[in-house]
Amino acid sequence: MLKRLSALLLAGTLLAAAPAIANDRIRNAEAEPQNWLSHGRTYGEQRFSPLDQINPASIGRLRLAWYHDLDTNRGQEGTPLIVDGVLYTTTAWSKVVAVDAATGKPLWSHDPQVPGRAAFNGCCDVVNRGPAFADGKLFLGTLDGRLQALDARTGTLLWSVQTTDPNQPYTITGAPRVAKGKVFIGNGGAEYGVRGYVSAYDSATGKLVWRFYTVPGDPARKDGAASDAILETLGRPTWSGEDYWKKYGGGGGTVWDAIVYDPDLDQLYIGVGNGSPLNHVIRSEGKGDNLFLSSIVALDPDTGAYRWHYQEVPGESWDYTASQQIMLADLPVGGRQRKVILHAPKNGFFYVIDRQTGKTLSAEKYAPTNWATHIDLTTGRPAIVAEARYLEKPFVATVGSAGAHSWHPMAFSPQTGLVYIPVQLIPGYYHRDKAFTYRKGRWNLGYDLMRVPIPRDADGRKAMQDSLQGWLSAWDPVTQKEVWRADHGMAWNGGALATGGGLVFQGTFDGRFRAYDAGNGTELWSFAAQTSVMAGPVSYSVNGRQFIAVLAGTGGAVPLALPSFQGPQARPNGRILAFALDGAAALPPLDTIVAPPSNASVPAPAERIEQGRILYADNCGGCHGMGTLSGGILPDLRRSLVLESAEAWQQVVIEGAFQDRGMISFRPFLTAQDAETIRAYVADEAAHLRREAKEP
Ligand code: CA
Repeated sequence: MLKRLSALLLAGTLLAAAPAIANDRIRNAEAEPQNWLSHGRTYGEQRFSPLDQINPASIGRLRLAWYHDLDTNRGQEGTPLIVDGVLYTTTAWSKVVAVDAATGKPLWSHDPQVPGRAAFNGCCDVVNRGPAFADGKLFLGTLDGRLQALDARTGTLLWSVQTTDPNQPYTITGAPRVAKGKVFIGNGGAEYGVRGYVSAYDSATGKLVWRFYTVPGDPARKDGAASDAILETLGRPTWSGEDYWKKYGGGGGTVWDAIVYDPDLDQLYIGVGNGSPLNHVIRSEGKGDNLFLSSIVALDPDTGAYRWHYQEVPGESWDYTASQQIMLADLPVGGRQRKVILHAPKNGFFYVIDRQTGKTLSAEKYAPTNWATHIDLTTGRPAIVAEARYLEKPFVATVGSAGAHSWHPMAFSPQTGLVYIPVQLIPGYYHRDKAFTYRKGRWNLGYDLMRVPIPRDADGRKAMQDSLQGWLSAWDPVTQKEVWRADHGMAWNGGALATGGGLVFQGTFDGRFRAYDAGNGTELWSFAAQTSVMAGPVSYSVNGRQFIAVLAGTGGAVPLALPSFQGPQARPNGRILAFALDGAAALPPLDTIVAPPSNASVPAPAERIEQGRILYADNCGGCHGMGTLSGGILPDLRRSLVLESAEAWQQVVIEGAFQDRGMISFRPFLTAQDAETIRAYVADEAAHLRREAKEP
């Protein structure tokens, strides 16, 4: 108790004046414009590089300077770091590569040997969003829940700690953050049924310093964590029943992406995710706000003690996480300069939040979202449309669970005063799952997401594809209005970078990397990257030469699950791409060979094929594509040789022959007959594909 009191007192004095940390290079990042030292370049994560050699006058000379091939075609979401001429990035399967930032020459690599079955616990591919750097060490989270520290010069492993219970479906895909000698790390898994938390580890030793749980757990058992008191006083009264901790694996609330340190106020902000199960009616008897789901929570970085919270979605029921990027800025709002958080979470509202108090100063729709009409600024609460809760009837949300903005980083330019948001429209069909039963280790949503029938006719497919939209929005956070937009005509586009050269860079789903005039949105340049560019770009310089670098490689939740209507697509492995004026590199030609549709024949009556469709939707579609329309990241089963043999199919699906690649044995979830029923359905879809191929 005494220790706790003194910690609180100490926290109080720290509040008054944030102490200067010796050698805190991130805090002084403005003095090193040639580097990109932390995930969003500075603590405030504006993703603005002051470098200006590449600008509207010179961009005609921007070319590929070098590229580095990665070892897989799985999704690449990493934001690289650049420290003194070395580029470090994490890649799919939580691997790390270090290359010479001027030439791309490999220096070292690190493979944490993530077991294949860890992929099964990931909702959203085997991605990783980046490392952290401090004091000569590189930090990364691994898909199977470890936090590791490496010697940045050699890649030698210095320490490694398991941050999660390996017997529960936790994953880590987010970048750790470092500040004040601590490494902060969260986790994912709320779709499956886990209890979210964020942890702080000593950066020198890997020793746990504090932990903060975001939702209440078993009331009879104290966590011994920084969140214990606040969860009982503020958290638990907003939950109903006991199923959330007793039956459903822990209520959710994972902190899977945004964790941001504020050096001005010496506090840490975490973005908390959705509940588990997702449906509020099942999770909490349809009652209560369920703190701290879908909230930004401010914590004491030294102790993890609670300071304030702002909940964006009370009684969350749509996967509207608040885990999206937390950006810090000083802006004139309401007649005076204020320290604010800029936040564009999944739910479609752009929030400007006072960092000192947690009060929302303004909130407007940056996308045509229909779950709420507006945010009441007096209470901070959304005016939720009653039907949106899909209690009696299904609800079609213009913005579904993929969010109007997901993890793809946004950028802010102090030159234009605009925030550049990768916006998307992927509608959501929320249909209450009245027969819900909790399935340990599986998706537990409480609504039918994957069972939506995919049309077979060309018109139906085109209509479905056309309903998926995306654009880059240049948003004025002071007036809360869009100033310009670059329409992409497709969803799941890349992260943004703003530069001192007056440019904004963004990749698009169709495999291009583009540059726009930051002031008016004119497209000035683009590059054919052969695969989607989703990750956050960075800029740096070596010996006075400015580079723009980005990871290419499609994947992640939406490209895995959403039906791909583009037809056969070759998927090259991911790459690091680096561009500079007068660059002289070129990508090798793209290998475009795609396997033909399988000739498998599995005669089955229509009702068995429909049974197979439902089994496929519930078990396979999340990775192999809804309605078997795979985007080609994981195998298109309609083109798989395995489909042709009942025995081979059983070997893979039931016996787990490919478990090293993440395709575990489905014996706990499917009988041998279920597996064969799925094969009948996929073979039927393959036959349809063969017919389509004949009559284009
Ligand atoms: Ca989620």
